[in-house]
Amino acid sequence: MTTQTNCIIPAATRRTNDGLQLRCRGAASALSIDERRTLFSRALNIDPSLRVRVAEILARVREQGDTALLAMAREFDRVPLSTLEVPKQSLDRAVSLLSGDLRRALERAAGNIARVHRAFLPRTIETSPEHGIVIGRRPDPLQHVGVYAPGGRAAYPSSVLMGVVPARVAGVEEVIVCSPPGPDGLPSTTVLAAAAIAGADRVFAIGGAGAVAAMAYGTDSVPRVDRIVGPGNAYVTEAKLQLAGVVGIDSPAGPSELLIIADETSDPELVAREMIAQAEHDPSACVVAIVIGDSAATSVEDALARQLQRASRREIIAQALTGQGAVLSVDTLVGALEIANRYAPEHLLVALGDAPRCREIASRARNAGTVFVGESASNAFGDYMTGANHVLPTLGLARSYSGLSILDFFRWTTYQGVDRAAAARLADDVALLADAEGLPGHAAAARAWANTGASLTTGDSAPNVSDLVRHDIAALSTYTEGRAEGGALNVIATDVCDLSDNTNLWGAPPAAQSALRDSQPARYPTPYSDRLKEALGRYTGIDGASIVTGCGSDDVLDAAMRTFADPGDRIAYSVPTFSMIPTLARVNGLLPVEVPLRDESQAFDIDPDRLVESGAKIIYVCAPNNPTGTAVSRSSLEQLVDRAPGIVIVDEAYAEFAPQTNADLVRHSERIVVTRTLSKAFGLAGLRIGYGIAAQNTVDFIERARGPYKVNTVAERAAFAALADTPDALGWVREHARIACENRDRFVAGLRELGFAPFPSLTNFVLVPHANAVELGRTLLADGIIVRTLTNLPRTVAPLSTAAGRALRISIGPWSMMTRVLDSLARAIA
Ligand code: PMP
Repeated sequence: MTTQTNCIIPAATRRTNDGLQLRCRGAASALSIDERRTLFSRALNIDPSLRVRVAEILARVREQGDTALLAMAREFDRVPLSTLEVPKQSLDRAVSLLSGDLRRALERAAGNIARVHRAFLPRTIETSPEHGIVIGRRPDPLQHVGVYAPGGRAAYPSSVLMGVVPARVAGVEEVIVCSPPGPDGLPSTTVLAAAAIAGADRVFAIGGAGAVAAMAYGTDSVPRVDRIVGPGNAYVTEAKLQLAGVVGIDSPAGPSELLIIADETSDPELVAREMIAQAEHDPSACVVAIVIGDSAATSVEDALARQLQRASRREIIAQALTGQGAVLSVDTLVGALEIANRYAPEHLLVALGDAPRCREIASRARNAGTVFVGESASNAFGDYMTGANHVLPTLGLARSYSGLSILDFFRWTTYQGVDRAAAARLADDVALLADAEGLPGHAAAARAWANTGASLTTGDSAPNVSDLVRHDIAALSTYTEGRAEGGALNVIATDVCDLSDNTNLWGAPPAAQSALRDSQPARYPTPYSDRLKEALGRYTGIDGASIVTGCGSDDVLDAAMRTFADPGDRIAYSVPTFSMIPTLARVNGLLPVEVPLRDESQAFDIDPDRLVESGAKIIYVCAPNNPTGTAVSRSSLEQLVDRAPGIVIVDEAYAEFAPQTNADLVRHSERIVVTRTLSKAFGLAGLRIGYGIAAQNTVDFIERARGPYKVNTVAERAAFAALADTPDALGWVREHARIACENRDRFVAGLRELGFAPFPSLTNFVLVPHANAVELGRTLLADGIIVRTLTNLPRTVAPLSTAAGRALRISIGPWSMMTRVLDSLARAIA
């Protein structure tokens, strides 16, 4: 369909002499070649000499690393820097310098970005093209992402949020920001504040092509990243293009663009306002209005001329409007859409007065970075606050690129399973194709399976279990207990002192022991241990109907995961934490998202923001935490509970040793599950009894997933006896928990005297980071002492990074045991 398209000479040119003359005029069919090019062939115009200069910068950084970056800070930014990384205090200071209102607005923007990007998180998809073939595609978060933030006049904190927040939501392990230093040697305060609010891990004062090179290659101080996002000047864009084969990049950024579709029902003042707002970005911004009807187009121009007189960035706006601006009139909406689709703008605003028509036109628009639907959907809202990403394709690249999104922070792994029977069926055709391509090795690899099919049909070789096992289960290993490690079970010593499993080393309450002697295990217990639930209710001060029991708290954790998360959903937790959590997650088909515990200055507390931003359906918190023994602050837990969109599980396996517990939280929200166990302070680990506390509704769902008869009759009886409020039951448990805490504090003091640096513990065990943990563990073993040696702890927590992720976890028992450990360690390090 052809459309009569007229370009209007702006009224402003006719009335005023301020130089506003839109470049485009005349019917679309009559646009000059130059005007067409201006409109439809926008492209990056990179000066060849800039290409050479950028290539030189990249080579310098690649060869000399930090030395080149420091020299370039002197040359280009005119600042002598002694270090490239911005200290944490400067980030905190930048946040404190923000006015309260600005900080609140930035936090609101960050929150909306997190919510929107979380909603678009990708999921694993599995399909089966033929029986016996399973193909899956799994999104894996990138490990390291770099966000570039321009400095000077173009320092936009909002763009920092757009890069960092989605990376965090995706579960990227490390997010760094690079931004050029100002005269004080630091990037702009607002950029720093935004980086801190968004949760960037590290910020570097590096600008331009050097920053891109540093992040792409890595230097001594700057970690190498997997993808670089964020807009920048021509140097940054060119550097990204030159490094596209080395690192992932986003689409090249050109000047900002807005195309508005309007008609006689539109408010011309509003259309002009939006055009002016876009034009003020940059003298080369591209701003176009396609208006249905000549008179409506003239009204827009009149409004534009009036508003330009009053605009404060008038010079820039006038340059943009006269450079690449246009008000075009067309006869029909179809014609307007045709032009819009061909133009492929970064932003498209459908600003008709009639809302349903706006929605209809917007649904038919193609090739736009983002579409604002309706007059009140101002571009400005999208730039800052709606939560949609504002890093969008320009230069007409919206024809083939999409805006920055949560998907940019993932890469996809496909996995392929072919069972034996399917292999037999595929063999001949695959061999045929391989032969045709002249690849006999391939053909042979396929053909080898043809025979297995033949024997299958004879029925004497059914698929074996390794063909049938779920691949994620096959990838797991079975649990190794501390005392089985390093051959500890083979220690032949009469006085073995097993400090590996955090149980009560004084034994079990006498009342429980005598109940065990009298037990009659003949009949089924009640399906959901009703009597025990009542006793646990009295002990915890929570109604028995709010308790779910299980075969150890592992069982309750497992059932809770299964109850609330579908396979493919995420579960987030701090690391390091209880080692069974990733296993239980995988068994339930969940994707673990690991968030480091905070640093020492923040008492190794959890990071509620990052846990919430993970987009996880379930957040697991171990309070106090195993294996660090450290506290989780009540305020962090409350923040988490307030903001988490899904279920929060608080594992209180060590509640009896901690000064404060959190079971009361279940009264505030039915989305909280607190788990406990009788394996630790109660000394009944061998009976496998755990329980969860939650709103009745929640418990009811978990019991359905858990199934009946998980606590056997004998265990139930002993547990019931241990929960009596008498000196030989609860009294005994409380007394020994108290002694354990006393001994722990003495033991920690002893360790410190020996030069060890144990984590501060609120439990009946202590984590002692040490680079030689393995050797120390062996020495202890030789002395008949079994402790847990941990070797692959995440190095994100400072004491563990200096200890190369190694530590000993030592349970606390009678003082005679603890002195044995101290003596043995003292000899080991002497
Ligand atoms: N949570 C934590 C933090 C633990 O340390 C443990 C055991 N080591 C458990 C849960 C599981 O305990 P159980 O299954 O014996 O109740």
